Amino acid sequence: MTHQVHNIPWTLLSSHLKYSRANQCSCGITNLHPRMQPNQGKEITFFINAFIRNIKEHSTCERKKHPAHYEPPSDDEIIIDERTAKRIAPTIRRVKTHLNWENIGRSSDVLEDRTVKLFLTKYRHTPCYKFLYFQRQGFLNLQVVATLLLYGEMETILRGCAHPDVAIEGWLDATECQCGNELGWELVYEKALTAYICLNLLYCFPETWDSASSSSSFSTGDEMKDYRDTKLYQYTVRTCTGKHKSADLVTYPHRQFFGIPDDHWGSAGVYVNNKQHWLRWSPHTSKYGFTSENPGLYGLVPLREFLSLERPAEDEISYQPFGSDAALVRGLLYQKGLPIELAWDIMDLAGYEPTRRLRIEHDPLHPENREALSKYLTYCWQIIVRCDMMAREIGMEIPWQEVVSKCLVRMLDSKGCRHEKRWYKAEWDDDGGIRSPVFS
Ligand SMILES: [Zn+2]
Ligand SMILES: [Zn+2]
Repeated sequence: MTHQVHNIPWTLLSSHLKYSRANQCSCGITNLHPRMQPNQGKEITFFINAFIRNIKEHSTCERKKHPAHYEPPSDDEIIIDERTAKRIAPTIRRVKTHLNWENIGRSSDVLEDRTVKLFLTKYRHTPCYKFLYFQRQGFLNLQVVATLLLYGEMETILRGCAHPDVAIEGWLDATECQCGNELGWELVYEKALTAYICLNLLYCFPETWDSASSSSSFSTGDEMKDYRDTKLYQYTVRTCTGKHKSADLVTYPHRQFFGIPDDHWGSAGVYVNNKQHWLRWSPHTSKYGFTSENPGLYGLVPLREFLSLERPAEDEISYQPFGSDAALVRGLLYQKGLPIELAWDIMDLAGYEPTRRLRIEHDPLHPENREALSKYLTYCWQIIVRCDMMAREIGMEIPWQEVVSKCLVRMLDSKGCRHEKRWYKAEWDDDGGIRSPVFS
């Protein structure tokens, strides 16, 4: 069940990759490795082009579901209606809490501004440590727009984009200061794209997730191959669920799917909390516990251990209740004779909400998780398409070629690997500055 199998040539991409264990390559990393076949570059490029064409086609098709033209709204026109405000309120509250906002507001009041102004605040470069001081409101406005993308409230977005002074483009790759700390809305589609490509690609290797597969280790008697041991999977989990200092919103849907609690990882960039535990991996991390992204700590240890890396010693990942667990607990509380409201209150106080989407924890490709996986992949795809639609509405193009190429390189290239950088060239873009990988 790779997603959109007729439009995206997943098997063409996977035919150029091979599951390789840590002890099988100089990089010492378990990952899908390029096979270095003669037509590899051409066919990876073909995959990327087909992928992008599919985004464009879907975004064109989605756009047609709305009026072709919107009248520019007046400067204080309300564009978020009551229904939408209610719908997105819990997420905005969570964002405000994360930003330590004063007077968060109750229910739908949490949205102080529902006018088109949300789309009009300009991004400006700010000095170090001053970002939230100078651009607090602008940043919150961006979070509201990003929330609308996550909820698929495209009608509201299209109305906002019709204003002549729409300033969304400037926020695309916004950073906190010159030193980095990304917080632009490119993160919204980058996370979705990473998860989407990673899971679809790994799905093409059933021997790594399906014990019933004819080539699985259960049948061949080989050592178990597990997709969760790969660098690309661990990189994806960390990238999609890791903390962002300000723009944490972009990770919410992914944390829910992968079952990762909010406070699980340290700050962005891998930092090893538990140094003792890590000494045996010292070639990959400095004595201070820092590690670079590449090779980073991905693809070195089994997933369970990977998940514990940034936790204090012996700390297990906290239990994330599954949907039916919550129902079970509620049932038990009723049986104790508690009135229904009280049972809800108790569960609220205990924070016992169904936060987990996967029946079988930490194993998205497990056959029993098929339904949740399929929903999640559809959702990731929709996010990608919505971002493209918003971009085109304000007359800009998302550089998909670069975005998809970089995503593949980050997942599949490894420092010290015998194929490192040999399967692509890094080329400068026409407008200077950014290197975009080209596969050859
Ligand atoms: Zn700085
Ligand atoms: Zn290697």
